[in-house]
Amino acid sequence: MDNCIFCMILEGKIPSRRVYEDDVCIATLDISPATPGHTLILPKRHYDDLLQLDKKTAGHLLMVAKKLGALQMEKLGAKGFNVVQNNKEAAGQTVKHLHIHVIPRYDDGKKFITWTPTQPTGEELDAVLKTLTE
Ligand code: AMP
Ligand code: ZN
Repeated sequence: MDNCIFCMILEGKIPSRRVYEDDVCIATLDISPATPGHTLILPKRHYDDLLQLDKKTAGHLLMVAKKLGALQMEKLGAKGFNVVQNNKEAAGQTVKHLHIHVIPRYDDGKKFITWTPTQPTGEELDAVLKTLTE
C-alpha cells in the first residue's frame, strides 16, 4: 500500500533490522524500543488492523510472537515479555499496517504497560455487560 512505512520496509525501500522472516511475516527491531530487543512482527500482506485479519494469519502471527518471546528470554536474558497490539488511533496505533509488538522485560522494576484501575459499581458493570451482549 502506498505511503505505508511498514510496506516500504517489507519492500526493502526503508532499511530494517530483521530478526526473523517466513512466508507470512517478518520481525524487525523497533526503531524506538521500549526495552532492548523490542521487536515488531509485520505481516507481508497489508492489513490496516486486527479487524481485517483472517483466522489463519492471526494464529500464525501469535505463534511467531511466542517464538520471538522465547528467543528474547534465551538470547537476551529477558525474564518475560509483553505482546502488545494497538488498533486505531484511539488505542495508540501510529502506523496503520497491522503489527504485533513483542517487548522483552528485564528485572529493572519498570512498569510501562499499565493503566489506572477504576472502581465502577456493580450496576455500572451490569450496564456495560447488557450493552455488549443484548
Ligand atoms: P504503534 O504505536 O502500535 O502503531 O507502533 C508503531 C511502532 O513502529 C512504534 O513503536 C515505532 O517506534 C515503530 N516504528 C516506526 N517506524 C519504524 C521503522 N522505520 N522501523 C522500525 N520501527 C518503526
Ligand atoms: Zn502496509
